Amino acid sequence: MTPQRVAVLRALVNCSDFVSAQTLHARMATVDRAVGLTTVYRALRALQAAGRLDVVRDETGERLYRRRAADGHRHYLLCRSCGHSRPVDSDVVERWVEQTRETSGFVAVEHTVELTGICASCRPTTHGNEPRPNAEAEQAHQAHQADQAGHAEQGV
Ligand SMILES: [Zn+2]
Ligand SMILES: [Zn+2]
Repeated sequence: MTPQRVAVLRALVNCSDFVSAQTLHARMATVDRAVGLTTVYRALRALQAAGRLDVVRDETGERLYRRRAADGHRHYLLCRSCGHSRPVDSDVVERWVEQTRETSGFVAVEHTVELTGICASCRPTTHGNEPRPNAEAEQAHQAHQADQAGHAEQGV
């Protein structure tokens, strides 16, 4: 590995959540000013190709990166509002992929599963936790939350 990739990987270890290349670059710049943004992008791409990273995409399509856990790849549920992510149990997906590979005769089968949603702390809160069909007509604050709900309905 090049020193730049080691530096990028080391910076990712210190991130508890998925980060964009720009965020990572900004954090690295406080420690190591020698690493440019292009270098960070290149290192991330190389690390991704080497299977060292998990990658998700935010609502704008920008890639967010996280160091892959030592025990293999994981799938994550990513909040479209704040970017918080949590690993999800994906055993059923892995078994299905394995079965599909065995029955299809394909080799080198790869899969991408992207799960996004609105996390508990970003979810619009109501007193009764009931859906609010008329939220648009309410205050600007609540209209904003309805906007987030609108994103949720678009699906992925
Ligand atoms: Zn959130
Ligand atoms: Zn998987």
